[in-house]
Amino acid sequence: MEYLGRQSPSSIEIEISSRAKKLYFNGLFKFPDPIEERICIWLNKGLSIELFDSDVEHSINEQIAHDPDLGVLELKRIDVLLKNPLKKFYMKYHGVIEPTIYPAWGCHGDLYIIRAETLWYPFTVSCRTVFWGLLYGYHDKALILFKIGKLTPVASLDVVSEDNGEIVFGGENIYQPIEFIIGPFKREVYAGDKQLFIYTLNKPSYTSAELYKHLDNVERAYEELYSVKSPHNQYHLVFLKETGGFHAGSMIVLDEKYIKTSKGLTLNLVHEFSHIWWAGKIKLCSPDSTWLMEAIPEYITTRIGGILGILEYTKQVKEVVNKAKSILRSGRYRPPTTIPMPMNEYSESIWRVVGPSIFYEVGGIIGYESLDHILSVFMEESLSSNKPYCLTWKTLRRMLYNLDERVSQILNRYGV
Ligand SMILES: [Zn+2]
Repeated sequence: MEYLGRQSPSSIEIEISSRAKKLYFNGLFKFPDPIEERICIWLNKGLSIELFDSDVEHSINEQIAHDPDLGVLELKRIDVLLKNPLKKFYMKYHGVIEPTIYPAWGCHGDLYIIRAETLWYPFTVSCRTVFWGLLYGYHDKALILFKIGKLTPVASLDVVSEDNGEIVFGGENIYQPIEFIIGPFKREVYAGDKQLFIYTLNKPSYTSAELYKHLDNVERAYEELYSVKSPHNQYHLVFLKETGGFHAGSMIVLDEKYIKTSKGLTLNLVHEFSHIWWAGKIKLCSPDSTWLMEAIPEYITTRIGGILGILEYTKQVKEVVNKAKSILRSGRYRPPTTIPMPMNEYSESIWRVVGPSIFYEVGGIIGYESLDHILSVFMEESLSSNKPYCLTWKTLRRMLYNLDERVSQILNRYGV
């Protein structure tokens, strides 16, 4: 798996409109350093380029290709051969965005759930793979203008301006690829110290004041336990079914199934919130490190849930560790370090059961406060860095391995 240096656009300006269930994009993309000879654009298979314009003489080759690192993805790969170095291009494209990894993503009638891996904007990070673009995507600046009539858009950026049904989302030092959702949402705004936007399709089960309170408690728990303040002053809380919930920038999506109780709501917020750092500000930047992006949030969720008194820490840990031990004994065990992205149920269980168990067990030896302290140092450092902050398992492992002989035994037992 190779990462060919930073070629993702430093600046993005896109206008998005919709007609007849299709999305229309009109965008200007600028690069930090001129790109020589060839630029590869990865795009969703359902999108067609209407216009590619640049002041550099070029020719274009288009094909449907598989990403060799992620195998199952079928993507549109556009090779642009350049006569001179290219610093920016302008592109018009449109179509129906098809789901890639997960069936819920993409255009579904008047609900559009457009995540990074749907490749809705040109992924130019490498000619070989989109994998690092998804994990490492980073822009200095972005502006997205939505002109979509009666539907309500929400993006992983902040609301910058609103006028007559046109709404602009924007931001600087964006630490993840940009994502957005469009749907017939009812939107409510709650202004406290931070601004909270709430998007619902049905009658909400919580008032905006209750949601604000929950989010505030979660923020405080992070401050107390990990000494970190969220970099966001605005949050977009989106309620959807069948998505499992996810996080991107200032957007937190919650799956209605998991938040029926106040306890469920808090735990899901804690998990999604932890992604501001893990897989957000902190890039897990080698193939054997990506499992940390779920292992550590799961550990943190149990830890904060225990401290807030909404789950029994010891019982929860015991249950998960027992499951991990039976997976370990099953004979077909694969260490999480060998799974850069889970693509089936089995590898998913390695990430979500074995992954956190390693941290529960290590914490049980060195003390949870010590483990929290180690994690908090990375979280703090990533906040003060204005470049993508890279952490590998090798670095973290080296720190843990030498703390206690019993830790090395745990890591060896799980083969990580
Ligand atoms: Zn997660």
